Amino acid sequence: MRRFTQRPEPDQERCELCNEPLAEEHRHLVDTQRRALKCCCTACHLLFTRPGAGGGRFRAVPDRYLADPGFTLDDADWNQLQIPVGLAFFFRNSELDRLVAFYPSPAGATESELDPETWRAVLGDSRLAAVLRPDVEALLVHRDPGGPGECHLVPVDVCYELVGRMRLHWQGFDGGAEARADLADFFERVRDRARPYDAADRPADEGGGSWPT
Ligand SMILES: [Zn+2]
Ligand SMILES: [Zn+2]
Repeated sequence: MRRFTQRPEPDQERCELCNEPLAEEHRHLVDTQRRALKCCCTACHLLFTRPGAGGGRFRAVPDRYLADPGFTLDDADWNQLQIPVGLAFFFRNSELDRLVAFYPSPAGATESELDPETWRAVLGDSRLAAVLRPDVEALLVHRDPGGPGECHLVPVDVCYELVGRMRLHWQGFDGGAEARADLADFFERVRDRARPYDAADRPADEGGGSWPT
């Protein structure tokens, strides 16, 4: 479960279910047993989006990005999280029935050793945490040195992308200028795509969305 590095090759351009050719931008399924992504076409993605399809091994990754403007992470919160390079993401693993947090790094992504209670204390009250869908969505937290802490709900494939980018660009302890610029671009896109949480974003009815107790 510590592995979070498997990512489809960028030049892989066929649906892994039906072999249909894929555009560069395409949908993904999460293989909950192997904890890996599968690239897929719109039709195959749709098959796993239907109600009742959510309990199986493969789960469709949604495309919503949410922000909660009323939620901030202050210095005390941030210190509690002990995030080494200013970013982390976490999701609910339905197989393990618990929350897992990862710190992306040049070597892939390392599972946080932090007590899940701490995550819960800092982020558990956020409305984004309440609507997080297990396995397929993640909460991405990020802070530039000296800046405010931010938190977005994102599709989990975006976190794989982030890990891939860091493996590609990161150098030395702080990543270097190129990696920092690349990360800034990445978070700019996340902010652009995110819309504020609203009442329609209720917890998923597939047994997820709530925090492990
Ligand atoms: Zn397909
Ligand atoms: Zn893909």
